[in-house]
Amino acid sequence: MTEPTATVGILGGGQLGRMLALAGVPLGIRCVVIEPTPGAPAGAVAEVLTASYDDQRALEQLARRCDVVTIEVEHVPIDSLAWLAARVPVHPSPEVVAVAQDRLAEKRRFVALGIETAPFAAPEELDAGYEAGTIVKRRTGGFDGRGQARLGPHASRSALAAAATSFGGRCVAEGVVSFDRELSVVAARGLDGTAACYPLVENRHRDGILRETVAPAPDASASMLAEGAAMVCRLADDLDLVGVLALELFQVGERLMANELAPRVHNSGHWTIEGAATSQFEQHLRAVTGLPLGEVGPIWPSAMVNVIGVEPEPARALSVPGAHLHRYGKAARPDRKIGHVTVTGRDERERDERLAAVRAIIG
Ligand code: AMP
Repeated sequence: MTEPTATVGILGGGQLGRMLALAGVPLGIRCVVIEPTPGAPAGAVAEVLTASYDDQRALEQLARRCDVVTIEVEHVPIDSLAWLAARVPVHPSPEVVAVAQDRLAEKRRFVALGIETAPFAAPEELDAGYEAGTIVKRRTGGFDGRGQARLGPHASRSALAAAATSFGGRCVAEGVVSFDRELSVVAARGLDGTAACYPLVENRHRDGILRETVAPAPDASASMLAEGAAMVCRLADDLDLVGVLALELFQVGERLMANELAPRVHNSGHWTIEGAATSQFEQHLRAVTGLPLGEVGPIWPSAMVNVIGVEPEPARALSVPGAHLHRYGKAARPDRKIGHVTVTGRDERERDERLAAVRAIIG
């Protein structure tokens, strides 16, 4: 057997860890995962150490066996990452993950870099909520719209305080942005500081959960495409990030406003598996192991539809030309992402027809 190119440790063995490990196979990159939940998706393609993220024996194994350690979720203990980083390269660094764990720190970073974001403050700093309405979000740990409360215009101090208390106190209050649509941009930055940026994509949410991504974002002007790329590259440079970075954005007219960053592979980048010259998963592994980054150009118009709660009949999903089904091997539960379907077309019209067909099957 040939020697592996590298052994990569991953904190987190969900679908992102699974797709990372899968992308490593052709490169000869072996992945070892720490995952607290037994039977997690990554087990199909990676060695899984079933342990909590602060389990000393599991961390020691990762440090001993891996050339580099990365994450698939940002909500991992910073102490564990710091312990690992003293022994083995960790990308993204514990400092970057700490920023991504805290919505307030994240927004302050946007402001420091001149990246526009919704008005925000700690709830206790406000005498009243914002005119357009206020969203109170947990600073740490919320995802898919969970851990958020939406208040009407000029919410009172007591309403802000009550919302914050319901989430355990540590919150950020944001002005509601009446955006035209939601976009995101995914980039990768290598060990040598070179960056490669996928095009802007459009994300369609329902109930705070991403339902569909359309890539590249339809009708995005050249200046907006350039601005999205510039924003994510500025952030990656400033954070000295190695690996993939996703930036979620609101489009307001021709302006882009940053909502959230994720220093990891991202749901809105799943289309790259079939739709781009190099998938975000391969790109992340290339970046963290010091290999040259791959080309990011879209091969053809693509769309991704998340499978949420209920699995489609595989043969039905695949009956749509250009469709590819990704099942995560997770038990079906309401509001749980259990797979996705990517669909491609030779042009946008064909892609959109096929997307409508997939949507009709997945619901
Ligand atoms: P988040 O957890 O910050 O990604 O928020 C989940 C979803 O809530 C976003 O994708 C938006 O649809 C919506 N949202 C979050 N923040 C704002 C905001 N400041 N104004 C309007 N909508 C928002």
